[in-house]
Order: sequence, then C-alpha cells, then structure tokens
Amino acid sequence: MDSPGKKMLESAQALIRKTAEKMKLDEEMVKRVVEPEFAHEFSLTINMDDGKKKVFRGWRIQHNCALGPYKGGIRFHPDTVREEVQALATLMSIKCAVAGLPYGGGKGGIAVDPKKLSKMELERLSRAFAARIAHVIGEDIDVPAPDVNTTPEIMSWMIDEYQKIKGYKSPATFTGKPVSMGGSLGRTEATGRGGLFVLQALLAKLNQKSKDSNDKFTVAVQGFGNVGYFFAKLAHEAGFKVVAVSDSKGGVYDKNGLDPVAVMDYKRKKGVVSGYGGKKVTNEELLILPVDVLVPAALENVIHEKNASKVKAKIILEMANGPLTEEAYENLSKKGVVIVPDVLANSGGVTVSYLEWVQGKAGYFWSEEEVNDKLKVMITRAFEAIWEKSLARKMPLKQAAFEVAIGRITAAMV
Ligand code: NAD
Repeated sequence: MDSPGKKMLESAQALIRKTAEKMKLDEEMVKRVVEPEFAHEFSLTINMDDGKKKVFRGWRIQHNCALGPYKGGIRFHPDTVREEVQALATLMSIKCAVAGLPYGGGKGGIAVDPKKLSKMELERLSRAFAARIAHVIGEDIDVPAPDVNTTPEIMSWMIDEYQKIKGYKSPATFTGKPVSMGGSLGRTEATGRGGLFVLQALLAKLNQKSKDSNDKFTVAVQGFGNVGYFFAKLAHEAGFKVVAVSDSKGGVYDKNGLDPVAVMDYKRKKGVVSGYGGKKVTNEELLILPVDVLVPAALENVIHEKNASKVKAKIILEMANGPLTEEAYENLSKKGVVIVPDVLANSGGVTVSYLEWVQGKAGYFWSEEEVNDKLKVMITRAFEAIWEKSLARKMPLKQAAFEVAIGRITAAMV
C-alpha cells in the first residue's frame, strides 16, 4: 500500500498538473514546476546518552526558487519519509507564491520520534542536521523554520551550529527563532491571526449577514493548539461567536458562545478541553455542527467523502494543512460551500516568517503592532488576488489559488 507521504506527493503533483493543463503550459514548463530542483538525503549519526551511536535519516528538499530563496520548515516525526518532505516542499512553493512572498518552497525532515530522545540527544540531532545542510542553505539560498515537533529552541541550536560552521552571524538564515535571538514579535499568533484577516476579507466580499440572534457569525474550531487556539481567541475578540472547540480528546459546544481564553485555562489545569462546560462533542460531531464557519485546525483529511454531505457550515476555512480530501472538496464546492484553501488561509505563519527574515537582514525590528499591520496588508492583498481570479475564471478559490501561484512562479522563470 502507498504510504500517506507518497499519496500526499501524488495529490500535490496531480493538482499542479491539472492547473497547468488548464493554463495550457507546455510539458517542459510543467516538469519544471513539478520536479524539485534539489533533493538532499542524508544519514545523521549522533551519540546517544548511553554511549552508543544511532543513525537517523534526514532530508532537505528544495523544490523551486524562481521567486526567491527556498523557504519551509523542518519536521521531526517517526512517519516522515522522502515523499512527504517533497510534497510539503512543493506546497510551500505554491503557498509562498499565493502569499506574494519573494520565496520559493523547501522543506526538511528527520524520521525520528523526538519524544523518545532526551533533551541532550535532541540537541545533538538538531545540530547534526544543521551541520549537514549548512553548505546548501543561507539567508539568500534557503531559509528553514520550525514545523511539526520543532520549536524556537531547536531553531536556536540550529542557527548556533550554522554560525559556528560559517564563522559569522547570519540571523536571517533561520526563522521561527526565539525573540531574544532575532525572532519576530507576533510570530506565535501569526497563523491564527492571518486566518482571521482572510475570513474578515471574505465576509466583506460575500456581504453576508449572520443568522445568529445576536447577529454574530458562529464558528466551530477543530484543534486547540497553536493555530486553533489563537484563531479562536482572536475571532472571539473580533466579535465572532466561537460555539465549539476541540482537541485530540474531544470538544465542547455551547450555542451561546465560549470564551477561548477560559477554555485554555481549563485545558492547562485538566489537560483537555472536554468537560469545560456546555455540551461534550466528539471531533466527528464538531465538524457537522450548525455553524456559519467551520475551521478545521488540527489534522489532514478530517472531512472526507463519508462525512462531507453532513457538513452544515457555508464557509470552511482550512487552517490545518489539507483537512479536506479532494472528494470532499469537490462535493462541498458543488453544493456552494465557500472553502478557503490552506495555502491561503494558513499563510499568515510564513508571511510573518518573511517579516522576521526582513527584520533579521535589516537588523531593524518592528513592534508587534507594526508586524500585525503588515501581516494584515499582505494577507488581505493575497486574498484579493485569489478572489478576483476565482470570479474572473468562475472557479473555486483553491483552483484560483493554484492558478495564481503557478502563474507567478512560471512568470519568474527564464
Ligand atoms: P499543534 O500541535 O500546536 O496543535 C494541534 C492541535 O490538534 C492540538 O490541540 C491537538 O490536541 C489537536 N489534535 C490532534 N489530533 C487531533 C484529532 N484527532 N482531532 C482533533 N484534534 C486533534 O499544531 P498547530 O501548529 O496548531 O498546527 C495545526 C495544523 O495547522 C497542522 O495541520 C499544521 O500543519 C497547520 N499549520 C500550522 C502552522 C503554524 O504556524 N503552527 C502554519 C501553517 C499550517
């Protein structure tokens, strides 16, 4: 059976091919947009705490640099395989182009369960990875960042290792660093905040009035981690009625609305959101609640052919990467549900990574308010271009996003 990573790669490449066909690109150009420019695959050997050596497999895949340096995170996960890293690098090229950033796409990964490593082992492995890729990255070549299971602290080890090897300071070579090491204010909340800006821009276009008695849009958010929590918190502050949230153990629903900060306080004490108040719901039930806006912000493929027909929301904001399968996407789009694709909805994170890079290169740092204002301008501009394309070509936002991205990438190729 094909691994999920292989399936992910096939689906990303199929989407690019389908879009390129509609755009009538010639076959050689299609190959240039589909195939990665470089694929670095290597082994990493570190000393474990018990004195034995252990070997890990790692990758840095640089997909396309037509628009600028490769950009993308590094993930540490036991299921990480080459195909998955390549798929994610490909989608980063699309996301950066959609977001209007002067970046191409890249991604890195190590097949490892970081929970099974001590802190010292994790640091040795992170440094070994940075040392392996040091000769192929750089602030104007390839700019890595955190992804699944990698943190600002891991970035600080990696940049320290990189700088030792290079012999000079180069803070813009990694983003997602701690603020004390040149990270940007506003980065932690950026993905959720960007999603909210996109949703507000969409509602302005749709000129919709909520049906809720208090004239507030009702929202259900699946996932209460970095993306889901900050989206829910900021949406609540902006006047949306967040009626449901969930984590991996289930969720809570209150049709009168929840305060995400209070739910997070509860989760910090009890470890879960379920039991906070209101009604307990499963993750499956949360997806089919009667709400205006559904925000999957946890895992991929949670809305699929079996549950898509039960979804009642008229707007879906894809804050997780790939939360809808292709079948679900097609079925719901045909029914008139407006689906904001992940490459646009969650691009606030990479946009503020870009702002971190700009600040690092300039050695001049903005206040959090300035960062948030710039994010708003940039992501709203990105939304406008996709919206206009979608209207002009009478196509759903996802297809429009791919057309805009591939148009920008190919226009920058000689
Ligand atoms: P996170 O690890 O901080 O949070 C994940 C959340 O999902 C947790 O609340 C967890 O309990 C919940 N979860 C796990 N399994 C679940 C399940 N089976 N059902 C429901 N909830 C479940 O991760 P994150 O950074 O918030 O990322 C969430 C998604 O957003 C991922 O798809 C990620 O790739 C994507 N994303 C994140 C960023 C970012 O800046 N963090 C940027 C772009 C995209």
